[in-house]
Amino acid sequence: MPAVPSITIQEALTDIEQQFWLDEQALKDISRRFQELFHYGLANHGAEMAMIPTFVTGVPDGTETGTYLALDLGGTNLRVCEINLDGKGGFTMKQEKYKVSDALKRGPAKDLFDYMARSVDTFLTDYGTSSSDDELLMGFTFSFPVEQTAIDKGTLIHWTKGFDCPDAPGKDVVKLLQDALDRKHIKVRVNALVNDTVGALLARGYQTSGALLGAIFGTGTNGAYLEDITKVKKLNLPSGGPSHMVINTEWGGMDDERKVLPVTIFDNYVDRKSIRQRNHVFEKMISGMYLGEVARAVLTHLMDHLVLFKGFSSELFNTMYAFDTAYMSAIEADEEPASSPNCATRKVLIETMKVPAEHVSDEDVETVRKVCRIVGTRAARLSAVAVAAVLDHTGNAQSKSTDDQGANVGVDGSVIEFYPHFEERLREALRILLGEQGEKRVKIGLAKDGSGVGAALGALQAFKQEQSGHRVEI
Ligand code: ADP
Ligand code: MG
Repeated sequence: MPAVPSITIQEALTDIEQQFWLDEQALKDISRRFQELFHYGLANHGAEMAMIPTFVTGVPDGTETGTYLALDLGGTNLRVCEINLDGKGGFTMKQEKYKVSDALKRGPAKDLFDYMARSVDTFLTDYGTSSSDDELLMGFTFSFPVEQTAIDKGTLIHWTKGFDCPDAPGKDVVKLLQDALDRKHIKVRVNALVNDTVGALLARGYQTSGALLGAIFGTGTNGAYLEDITKVKKLNLPSGGPSHMVINTEWGGMDDERKVLPVTIFDNYVDRKSIRQRNHVFEKMISGMYLGEVARAVLTHLMDHLVLFKGFSSELFNTMYAFDTAYMSAIEADEEPASSPNCATRKVLIETMKVPAEHVSDEDVETVRKVCRIVGTRAARLSAVAVAAVLDHTGNAQSKSTDDQGANVGVDGSVIEFYPHFEERLREALRILLGEQGEKRVKIGLAKDGSGVGAALGALQAFKQEQSGHRVEI
């Protein structure tokens, strides 16, 4: 006997749509909460949305010139780059990737940092340098949690992403790198430590003569913006120094208390099975690492109600994180009729997710598309809130003069780059939050490779700060 569903697919979808929809009031409430938490994080150490001072006190405007190195230690690769800035917002770049073995990731810190220094040496030998300076300046993109006390000083808090050199936490990673370079007598000085979000801001600033916000929508989500230094209350800096500082918001941790975020049971499901439960809920509703998993939670719920695939699943659909966010992109880009043999959604379901073809009806294809649209739209609208909240907080939500240059936002990450309609949906929510005119001024552009160019610009910025006596240290 075929089981009889207790609800119709339309009823189920309407219910899900309502749970995921952010209306005008919700958008505005979340934006207000964002701004409250900006203030809180700027005044208090250890906030969930951490508002980390980066000690970068300005953003490039594109007139900068020179040759800088960048070293990027990400998840799997180590990358060395040399960047030549042409002073007109353009640059050329040479780069090479070096593999980091598991042994290095888990051995003594000295071995890892010696390897990094050796890679810089190899790079300089293989590619030469176009700089004639005695000493090359290098920016270091280190995508792990650090406690920064100056633009070139930061203590590793703990490792993530499979790294675990036991003697590194608690040490200054810039010093570890500099010591390794010095041991090899390499004439490179590491003068800036930056993360990818700050890199995106600096890169976009250089490319468009100034930027207000750098934002990442990739594996995770985060934003960095230029703040009035008097508002960074927790630093307690003496007056007379620089007027601004870039703040790394760590907005993934916005409203972990869930005062305004409309968290659904599907989000709770994803959260309770995640590594850090109850942490970074906002990020889990937005970013590439989690979107597919939220969609999978909704789709399996529909299977459990017997309104999708006649109640059948597949081993992959039952597997955590098996429904990648990139599949949602493919599904949302698919405009073929559900019955067409070229229908990409059908292919993802049958060929990739291994749902038996006889269980996939045309209506199921439409259902899956709709679920992806619902989950993806919420992500884009929440992303808009983050952007609007920063612009509002910094007094940049509306035009301030007749020769208004607009509000430049540099973005990076696979979700904003590849997810269909993401920016369009983000803009729709921006129109609600900032008004028609406010939204039009927002210029969103890819700050591609913020971790390479951004690190080089970090080195440049640090050098400028040294020269002008604007070094800030706590
Ligand atoms: P990272 O954040 O490590 O710098 P990316 O910006 O490439 O890297 O983001 C990787 C994340 O983006 C992964 O979670 C992946 O699932 C997701 N992703 C990869 N390709 C796509 C795509 N085409 N559309 C949407 N998301 C994608
Ligand atoms: Mg990235």
